[in-house]
Amino acid sequence: MSEFVRRLPVYLLLDCSESVAGEPFEAIKAGLHSLISTLQQDPMALETAALSVIGFSGKATELIPLTDMTQVNMPRLRLGSGTALGSALSILQASIERNVRKNSATTKGDYKPNIFLLTDGRPTDSWMAEADKVRAKVGSNQYNMIAVGCGDDADLEALSRITPIVIRSKDLNPEVMAQFFQWVSASVTTVSTAVSGAGNGEIHLPNVPDLLEVVPGNEQPVTHQSDRFVFLHLHCVKTRQFYLMRFERRPQSESDYRNPPQYDCVAVHPVEDFDFESSAKSSATVSSAQLHSLKACPYCNNPGYGMCLKGHTHCSPGKTATLTCPVCNVTNLYEVRDFGVGSGAG
Ligand SMILES: [Zn+2]
Ligand SMILES: [Zn+2]
Repeated sequence: MSEFVRRLPVYLLLDCSESVAGEPFEAIKAGLHSLISTLQQDPMALETAALSVIGFSGKATELIPLTDMTQVNMPRLRLGSGTALGSALSILQASIERNVRKNSATTKGDYKPNIFLLTDGRPTDSWMAEADKVRAKVGSNQYNMIAVGCGDDADLEALSRITPIVIRSKDLNPEVMAQFFQWVSASVTTVSTAVSGAGNGEIHLPNVPDLLEVVPGNEQPVTHQSDRFVFLHLHCVKTRQFYLMRFERRPQSESDYRNPPQYDCVAVHPVEDFDFESSAKSSATVSSAQLHSLKACPYCNNPGYGMCLKGHTHCSPGKTATLTCPVCNVTNLYEVRDFGVGSGAG
């Protein structure tokens, strides 16, 4: 019988939807980078932990298949539209089935997988059946799973369907992201130290950091109103670079709930590496007439935006202009007209 090292499988499911664009996304990348380097410097984690990273936006992608800690490299995280949680949970289960070694008559298999899910939105795919399958594995003690919901739009109700351990943070900011990754890394170090002795792979979590809070098991999570943010996808007409314009819904009073909600631009996010392929098709539920207080193009400072005849949106110097679309290269005379914008893509 060959010498066999029992591994501690660690899965990270990371929400890469456009709503994390900007500083939070930079903090997620930095946090993951420091998690990998911290664990690679910890002798116990290095010996026992194996890491997998699954990113999800419009669809989910296994960015790192389950890999021994010694061999892990930083994956490429990319933003996209959508929150394909169901697909992420499906990839997770398939990976565990394929890669986590089970007990046999003569040897003990790998330890129970420890799964950390981080999201700031609501699922945009069909997720309930996958959630129930994962919940059954958590319930029968085959998985340890912790779900973290950040910001007001996180769907804690969905998370509590997946696992009884739900952690929330009111804010979605770089400090929260940094604390999350430090905490995961401390958890993995603690567990790998425990299992390297005579432990059984049970998770004994370090205290949850200040900015995160465990949702009590008896609390009924609140479902928030949907579609707080909508995003416009734009290319700069001068540099062809891509950016997102983020709009936040204005508060509505009881009396004006019949009117369409209005949105104000709150930020523009230059995005170098947007995952167009994985992005969910927008459902076009908001019209551009509902969008206000535009911000200038971050690349050329053009104050407005327009849409070409094929439906590509880009920055524009004014209401009427002759421009060449940076996406399809067709030159048009533009008149600004209203068009639909996807919303609620997580
Ligand atoms: Zn521009
Ligand atoms: Zn075009």
